[in-house]
Amino acid sequence: MATATKKIQMVDLAGQYEKIKTEIDNAIASVLHSAAFINGPEVKSFQVELEKYLGVKHVIPCANGTDALQIAMMALGLKHGDEVITSNFTFVATAEVIGLLGLTPVLVDVYPGTFTLNIAAIEKAITPKTKAIVPVHLFGQCAEMEELMALAKKHHLYVIEDNAQAIGADYKYTDDKTVKAGTIGHFGTTSFFPSKNLGGYGDGGALFTNDDELAKKARSIANHGSTVQYYHDDIGVNSRLDSIQAAILRIKLRHLNEYCAARQKAAAYYDKAFANHPQIKIPERSKHSTHVFHQYTLVLHNVDRTKLREHLAAKGIPAMIYYPVPLHLQKAYKDARYKEGDFPVTEMLCASVLSLPIHTELDEETLKFITDSVLEFLK
Ligand SMILES: *Cc1c(COP(=O)(O)O)cnc(C)c1O
Repeated sequence: MATATKKIQMVDLAGQYEKIKTEIDNAIASVLHSAAFINGPEVKSFQVELEKYLGVKHVIPCANGTDALQIAMMALGLKHGDEVITSNFTFVATAEVIGLLGLTPVLVDVYPGTFTLNIAAIEKAITPKTKAIVPVHLFGQCAEMEELMALAKKHHLYVIEDNAQAIGADYKYTDDKTVKAGTIGHFGTTSFFPSKNLGGYGDGGALFTNDDELAKKARSIANHGSTVQYYHDDIGVNSRLDSIQAAILRIKLRHLNEYCAARQKAAAYYDKAFANHPQIKIPERSKHSTHVFHQYTLVLHNVDRTKLREHLAAKGIPAMIYYPVPLHLQKAYKDARYKEGDFPVTEMLCASVLSLPIHTELDEETLKFITDSVLEFLK
C-alpha cells in the first residue's frame, strides 16, 4: 500500500525553504548587518525587479494584500456611497476594504467553471453610482479581462485586479498579445502572505499600475499621505513592506516561474487522475489565461464532502473548502439587498468545492496517494 513518508500539507513552505536555505539565510543576515529594516535598498531592488518581471511601470510595495486593495481604492478617490462591484466568491478582504471605506459593495455571481466574475452579471449590476469593478483572479487564473475592460471603458469605471492568487499568470488577449496578471486594470494588487504563490516569511503586499499619477498617489497614501517628509497632502495609511521580507521575496521571485511550473505539473497529475469521473469536475481553464494554481479546486457532484474530508484526514491528507460561505450570507456582510438564492452559482460552489494540497514540493508518490485515496472513497 502506498503511504506518504512525509506529512502531507496544503502548502509545504518548510520543504521549499530547505532548497533555497543558503540564499535566504545570507539575504536575511545581510539585512540584519545593514540595519536598514524599513525602506532599505532591498525594498527598492525588489520593487524594480518585480516591475521588470511583470512588465509594469510601477510597483508600490505595502504591508499586505488587504492594504493594497484599500490603498488602490483611496488613490482612485472613491467616496462614501460609491458602488464597487466585486465577486461574491472570494476571500473576504476584497469586500472588507470596500465596507471599511464606506463604499457600497455590489456582489455578483461567477462562472461555474473558472470561478471568475460573470461579465453579463457585472453589466446587470452597473448603476449610475457604480465607480469601480474589482475582479478577483481566483485560485490562480485571470478573470475575463478583455471583456471586463471593455465594459469598464463603456461605463467609465475603474478596475482594480485583485491578483493575490495569480501572480505570475499570463493573460492572453484575443489578438494573442500577452501580459502579466495584475497589469491590465488601473491598479493590480497582490499579497505576499507566506502561502501565496510568491510568499514572504511574514506579511507583505504590493500594488501595480502603468499610470504615473496613480502610482504617485498610491505611494503617498501608503506613506501617511506624504511625498515630502512631514508634509501631508492626503489622509493616508502606514503600510510598508519591511526590508527582510523584500530580501526574501527578491530570492523567491527568481524562482517564481519554476514554482508556477511545479504547481502546474501537480495540477496536470490531478487532472489526469480525475478527468471524466462522473462525480468530479476538474478546474476549467480560461481560454485567455494561464493557470498558476494557487489552489487546485474540484467541484464535487453527489459526494458527501464532509465524509470525503474525514476519509482523507484519516490518511493524513488535508483538503480545504475555499470558500464555505458566500459573502452575502456572512454575518458581517448581511444586507437587505441580498437573500439566500440570489447567487445560485456561488452558493452551489460553496456547497460543493474541495481544494486538494498543491504546492511546489509535491512528488508523484504523494500525488498518487492523494488521488488514489479520493477515488477509493468515490468507488
Ligand atoms: C490573500 C488574499 C487577500 C489579502 O491578502 P493579505 O496579504 O492576507 O492581506 C486579498 N484577496 C485575495 C483574493 C486573497 O487571496
